[in-house]
Amino acid sequence: MTPPDHTASLPGTVWFVGAGPGDPDLITVKGRKLLEEAGAVLFAGSLVDQAATLYAPEGCDIRDSKDMTLEEMTDWLIAAAERHETVVRLQTGDPGLYGALIEMTRPLTAAGVAWAVVPGVSSAMASMAVAGETLTLPEVTQTVILTRVAGRTPMPPGEELEALAAHRTTLCIYLSITLLHKVQEALIKAGWSEDAPILVVQKASWPGEEKIVRGTLKDIKKKCQEEKIASQAMIVASPTLGAADWPDLIRSKLYDPGFGHRFRKATTTTESSA
Ligand code: SAH
Repeated sequence: MTPPDHTASLPGTVWFVGAGPGDPDLITVKGRKLLEEAGAVLFAGSLVDQAATLYAPEGCDIRDSKDMTLEEMTDWLIAAAERHETVVRLQTGDPGLYGALIEMTRPLTAAGVAWAVVPGVSSAMASMAVAGETLTLPEVTQTVILTRVAGRTPMPPGEELEALAAHRTTLCIYLSITLLHKVQEALIKAGWSEDAPILVVQKASWPGEEKIVRGTLKDIKKKCQEEKIASQAMIVASPTLGAADWPDLIRSKLYDPGFGHRFRKATTTTESSA
């Protein structure tokens, strides 16, 4: 694959590839091609090892990064780029979401190593997909917030969950399953009802390992405890949840017969066109 235009001095390019949420079929075609030609692959923990071993060629230098510090990882990638044309850093979901991407690319640039990013299917999208849910719905919410609650990493001012929840949009909450009580508190403080539907998906897209838990703001923690969910889980709070079973639904204007657009003329004039 053609490396990005860069003032690099080493032969290899390091590709930060999004592996997707777990199912090896959910990596992009580009990501898979890069793995197939990789001389070295550094993959992020247990969530992506299957993809790495499936698509990487024989003789590829494959290393799990779970016991490595950031410096050890970047040193490994730089050394790999001295020996191989294609080096892959394989990350869960999309590399730009909670992926320490820039912390890793800066030392590479400083060492003269070219790098590029291949996006991936994030676990928020995968979680909604496996549950048959939608992130947006006309006149319900047209906005998605991808966030987390403060753990050891603090939240920047103004990004407290209570403040974000006040918008009543879809909230996809990463890295927070052990802090579910904080999610409950924040949403209640923001005015969400105790009966508001909440979705938790653990290991979305992993065949045989995926768990989907549906509950309300009030009982979701208890339900997750019963299911022994304490890691690798996405929490979604959204006014769209359960829409597949609603008796009335506002249709998307784009597919409305009365709504013409660039690719299709309006065929009726029964509904509004704005
Ligand atoms: N870059 C990743 C997120 C990494 S942070 C992405 O785009 O998805 C790790 C968090 O992602 C976990 O705490 C969990 O909240 C979520 N996560 C990752 N894989 C998941 C999966 N298969 N199912 C549900 N949540 C997942």
